[in-house]
Amino acid sequence: CGIAGITGTDDAGRALVDALARLEYRGYDSAGIATHAPDGIEVRKSVGSVAALAALGSPGGERRSGIAHTRWATHGAPSTRNAHPHLSHDGTTALVHNGTVRNVARLRGELTDRGMATTSDTDSEVLVHLIAWHRAQGVDALEAVRLTLARVDGDYAVLVITADRPGTLIAAASGSPLLIGTDGRAVHVASDRAALSSGCTHCSPVLDGEVVAVTAAVPAGRTWEALTPGTTWTDKGSYP
Ligand code: GLU
Repeated sequence: CGIAGITGTDDAGRALVDALARLEYRGYDSAGIATHAPDGIEVRKSVGSVAALAALGSPGGERRSGIAHTRWATHGAPSTRNAHPHLSHDGTTALVHNGTVRNVARLRGELTDRGMATTSDTDSEVLVHLIAWHRAQGVDALEAVRLTLARVDGDYAVLVITADRPGTLIAAASGSPLLIGTDGRAVHVASDRAALSSGCTHCSPVLDGEVVAVTAAVPAGRTWEALTPGTTWTDKGSYP
């Protein structure tokens, strides 16, 4: 239902809980966060409120980047197992997804043929395993996301992190909004303007079909819209 990401901050766990709280107005049944931890990717998720997730405690140690999700189930019941982020079997890749994958049965079948079982009932989980499969063939992360999303019949806004690139988020969208924002220090990603940090001075939409690597260095070659820092956006659902 809503997704958020951050890179270039000292406390990604806290920033992501804050972003999820800003997404709560949309309604959701479960929530979760994945952060780049010193020894890999750490996932936390829970059914119910963002406060319940926050109560699990802040991830220990320094976390500079991560992704987060509030879920409104379309495929599979609301449960911790079905909550996002979804993690690849090898633990190298985590993904959050807004939208629906209409051809999930076919993609799940292809994974089964390759000996990769899914562990949730969601449509979204197949994406993380397909990305990990491409990576295992030696394809780089951005290209693995591109190849996977090219197979999707449906709508998506996705954020992906991989264990081998701390500080990097991969953002992609088609038929579902996703915005990159900057506050001059950290770079934020959110599925709507209301969920972007109110400290952001500029934002830029992820274009339909685009797959972009987002690092703490503000991505170049984009068109940025100036924002007024401190503004709480109430034009919920109105995007540039
Ligand atoms: N289709 C996905 C699911 O059911 C994502 C739903 C959403 O956008 O929250 O898990």
